Amino acid sequence: MQFTALNTNTSENPDSSASESQHYKVVIIGSGPAGLTAAIYTARAELKPLVLEGSEPGGQLTITTEVENFPGFPEGVMGPKLMEDMRIQAQKFGSETKFEMATQVDFSKRPFTITGEGNLYTADAVIIATGASARLLGLESESRLMGKGVSACATCDGFFYKDKEILVVGGGDSAMEEATFLTKFASKVTIVHRRDAFRASKYMIEKAEANPKIEFAMNKVVVDILGKDFVTSVKLKDTQSGEITEMPIDGIFMAIGHNPNTGIFKDQIETDEKGYIKTIPGTTKTNVEGVFACGDVQDAIYRQAVTAAGSGCMAALEAEHFLG
Ligand code: NAP
Repeated sequence: MQFTALNTNTSENPDSSASESQHYKVVIIGSGPAGLTAAIYTARAELKPLVLEGSEPGGQLTITTEVENFPGFPEGVMGPKLMEDMRIQAQKFGSETKFEMATQVDFSKRPFTITGEGNLYTADAVIIATGASARLLGLESESRLMGKGVSACATCDGFFYKDKEILVVGGGDSAMEEATFLTKFASKVTIVHRRDAFRASKYMIEKAEANPKIEFAMNKVVVDILGKDFVTSVKLKDTQSGEITEMPIDGIFMAIGHNPNTGIFKDQIETDEKGYIKTIPGTTKTNVEGVFACGDVQDAIYRQAVTAAGSGCMAALEAEHFLG
């Protein structure tokens, strides 16, 4: 259940002050739980926000499987369904949503300027909720075979691996979750981790360990992915002995964390050494007054849907207060 571009533009521009640019009180960049919660709150405050949804409307939860820890869903909820409902809720209160990437921003003068794909917007306040994207290993073979046996999205591609043998790289909750999900299709899933201890939570590790289709290769890193038109094997290096072994596999899924999507904000706003937007502790305020950041783009620690939603609410309330 992916969002399409067809039904995303939901309302007329509320305040078109110049033909070449459209003005909004609040522009929200990003449409994951943080951005859409900010939209619900700012829309209910009658600020008529514009949400620039980006290339992946709904954010990371649209490429995840069942969400079991979002409060209010005792039976769990599918990530795409949760995000679609959040968007409907945001639209219901008057948020405008556009299937459009922000490609450039200028926070040096007011109103702030946000350049979209062919559109120019100005805003009195901006809420950044651009989230984070899957990290990759950086191997040449990884990019060459992307979509040909290499994937960073189990939900999107797992179906293609019925009765196949696959690897999942990583030692965090994502690796456990993706591996567990992939056993629905695959005959065997091997989790490859570079250390001898997992970063994942106890519950997720126990769930993976209890799954008879999951095996573990500890202290191993993937140094090459082999295959001409499709992945056929990987080369694994033992981090302790240095020994390199080849392992035949049909697919490899990367679950090694994320990088914050802050490329367009470089030189506009303060980020930390990893690229996460810096906010004043306990708030969503950035170093630019009137620009707020919420969700994974400013959170390298918790990175949960519910914490993203909570910080989206904070950003909306702070933007509302800022706008008076
Ligand atoms: P993460 O916790 O940062 O874990 C990334 C894993 O990948 C780590 O084990 C790391 O190894 C490994 N790694 C990183 N770079 C690597 C590289 N270049 N080569 C090999 N291995 C590499 O990321 P995550 O699993 O995506 O989870 C992120 C956050 O989302 C966490 O807070 C997690 O709790 C949350 N999450 C929650 C759920 C859930 O509750 N249902 C599901 C998914 C994610 P090291 O351990 O050695 O650093």
